[in-house]
Amino acid sequence: MKFRNKLIREILERYKTIDAIQRLSALAAWDLNTYMPQKAAEDRGIILGKADVLIKKLMLDKEFAKLINKAEKEKNLNDYEKAVIRILKKRIRILSKLPDKFIEEFNETTNKAQIAWKNAKENNNFKEFLPYLKKIFDLVKKQAEYLGYKEHPYDALIDLYEESWTTKDFENFFNSIKDELKKLFEEIKLSKNYIDKHPLEREKYQKEDMEKVNFEVLKILNFDQERSRLDIAPHPFEESISLNDVRITTWYHKKDFRRSLSATIHEFGHSLYELNIDPELKFTPLQRGTSYGLHESQSRFWENIVGRNIAFLRKIWPLCKKHLLFLKKYKFKDFYIYFNLIRPEFIRVESDEITYHFHIILRFELEKMILENKVKIEEAPEYWNEFMKTYLGIKPKTYKEGILQDIHWSMGAIGYFPTYSLGTFLTGMWLESIEKDLGDLETVLEKEKGINILQEWFKENIHKFGSTYTSKDLIYKVCHKNFDTRPFINYLKKKYLELYK
Ligand code: MG
Repeated sequence: MKFRNKLIREILERYKTIDAIQRLSALAAWDLNTYMPQKAAEDRGIILGKADVLIKKLMLDKEFAKLINKAEKEKNLNDYEKAVIRILKKRIRILSKLPDKFIEEFNETTNKAQIAWKNAKENNNFKEFLPYLKKIFDLVKKQAEYLGYKEHPYDALIDLYEESWTTKDFENFFNSIKDELKKLFEEIKLSKNYIDKHPLEREKYQKEDMEKVNFEVLKILNFDQERSRLDIAPHPFEESISLNDVRITTWYHKKDFRRSLSATIHEFGHSLYELNIDPELKFTPLQRGTSYGLHESQSRFWENIVGRNIAFLRKIWPLCKKHLLFLKKYKFKDFYIYFNLIRPEFIRVESDEITYHFHIILRFELEKMILENKVKIEEAPEYWNEFMKTYLGIKPKTYKEGILQDIHWSMGAIGYFPTYSLGTFLTGMWLESIEKDLGDLETVLEKEKGINILQEWFKENIHKFGSTYTSKDLIYKVCHKNFDTRPFINYLKKKYLELYK
């Protein structure tokens, strides 16, 4: 039994109501991004805003706070019980600083902005989105002031996604990888067998065929259709509605099938984390992945470390050939290279494992500059394009393939992007630990039950704990060292210098 302390049990009993409202809001948010009629955006924003205010009221209830303060003084609390206090105290601290009016305004604005962004992107018209984006940056600037920070307003926002990480931490992280990634990319480009285009990128497919591929690949990954589902969204995402209802989405472009499959596997990785949380943590504040970076380390492990691995691709090659008939013209080697092209792309989510991080660095630097009032929102597209040129040597011709590509800003998620690179570099640390425990990954994946063995490792070492440990503590617990960028860089070097040799 994880929760023995009487006070903790009382807290958790009360928390169930809060959890229920949150899960219903999650369902409404899933609906907003999948099947909701367009005109409902404004109403949905109001409804979600009211739900958030109710959550705030329950969280800031005096009796509830008293219970938490009392429980904190209890002796002999175990890790789970301590985590309940840690998480609730942080949330109460944040909520107590944000006025109701602000919460409602934030919800209404971001809900309308998500629809506006979707239309602006479709019409390739930044001006349509501009007033919303201005408002959102004004709101997050206010939010940072409400929440407070030591050095930089960005710190207050980053803390919402990655506890105990600061602007400085990310600056140091990005400065330490920039040159190394650039050098590696240059080295790969000079390799004898380097190619930057692939005929498979031009191959068209029928959506129905690709759906079959996605479902069969998910089956290989032990996708649990009784606890999950796959739908379509303009920007793929995962939503955890309950421990037995974790939904994922993907997209179909009718050509270049790798884009659809990678998104499906990515979101599957997120869902696996949520589905594998210990059922004893159900309805508690511990029932969610511990941070955004940690979550992304799961999705990107499956998308990249597994999804682009030769042994895994060999496993799915026959089923891909069965449904995508154009593959009959190709050899397995083509299929493998197609998944492992290294080339600067306009679209972040379709980038390779190396140049991806320049997309994140761009967003990090631009968000920071806007918060520092060094860049006006009107000028943001210009800066975006300049950064693309500096870091990736390419310049977007449309807003769609530039500043309008991501949903995040429309959701008010500023400070979120850096966790993507953090998560990706963590995949290198997981890989290092897995290979210590289980042996070479390729050999594991070649086994009949290889996927199960790997999933069991993640469940036992990471998933089952939910939010029991902070990301920093969990990294140390699993890897016996602090965050380290070397394992991921080593993985990249070993894989790609060999591949194009
Ligand atoms: Mg993700």
